[in-house]
Amino acid sequence: MFENLSDKLQSTLQKLKGKGKLSEKDIDLAMKEVKMSLLEADVNYKVVKTFVNNVKERALGSEVMESLTPGQQVVKIVHDELVKTMGQQGESKLKFNPNDITYFMMCGLQGAGKTTATGKLARKLKKDGKKPLLVACDIYRPAAIKQLEVVGESVGVPVFQMGDKTSPVTIAKEATKYAMKHGIDVVIIDTAGRLHIDESLMDELVQIKQTVKPEEILLLLDAMTGQDAVKVAETFNQYLDITGVILTKVDGDARGGAALSIRNVVEKPIKFLSVGEKMDQLEIFYPDRMASRILG
Ligand code: GDP
Repeated sequence: MFENLSDKLQSTLQKLKGKGKLSEKDIDLAMKEVKMSLLEADVNYKVVKTFVNNVKERALGSEVMESLTPGQQVVKIVHDELVKTMGQQGESKLKFNPNDITYFMMCGLQGAGKTTATGKLARKLKKDGKKPLLVACDIYRPAAIKQLEVVGESVGVPVFQMGDKTSPVTIAKEATKYAMKHGIDVVIIDTAGRLHIDESLMDELVQIKQTVKPEEILLLLDAMTGQDAVKVAETFNQYLDITGVILTKVDGDARGGAALSIRNVVEKPIKFLSVGEKMDQLEIFYPDRMASRILG
């Protein structure tokens, strides 16, 4: 991810670093290049505008103009603003219920990589010493239940299912009873993914949310769909007030537009990156590390 953007930003900033003093014209020119690079990376237009304005304002201020190494100061500002665009320190941490069973709800469109990421998350929680349970609430897609069972087995986490004739809300309720009986502390609900967002999908998700009152509502978004992923996030967030995003298929996304836009547009943090098909390919999202990766 970010290969092109990274090359372009680095070459723009290198030119600034090569100069002794910086004029307003130098900054203007560099910011035009930064803007183009971000737009080419498919970053949301409003996010680009805010980003460039913020960098420019600071770059023209005394912290740069009076500095002995103005070029380096601009690099630092670009880094800071990239971090700010992608999130805040600590917000990728998952929330747990300290006194009772914790519920996570996994949502997203079909094919986004929800089932895969659900397995990865269960694996991570188990490694962290939790006792998770996967719950099969996608009763519509043929083979969804089986797929979750396969994933559950591969990471050694039990799967609760009631076939495809019981309503997802009832399944979620029954899963609670199972969890209490078996000493489960985190229940991860795999909800139905549809090809498009529709009212009945959203109503069902809202009902599940009201039933289990989840600590986390995690939305799975395919990074390769760029700004479409951002639109999907806006809609799910309107209905569900999500708590975070897991960006999937990041390994196949050369541009990075979704990663750089979501936090700013939807005002919800990216919590994890799914970077491959294998169960251990889940990374915690750290905005500062990502910014450093972009700027090299
Ligand atoms: P769901 O319909 O949202 O549950 O999606 P799945 O979890 O079934 O994933 C759809 C396809 O994308 C499968 O072929 C997965 O192996 C693949 N996939 C999921 N996550 C990733 C990822 O992070 N990287 C890559 N390259 N493929 C992924």
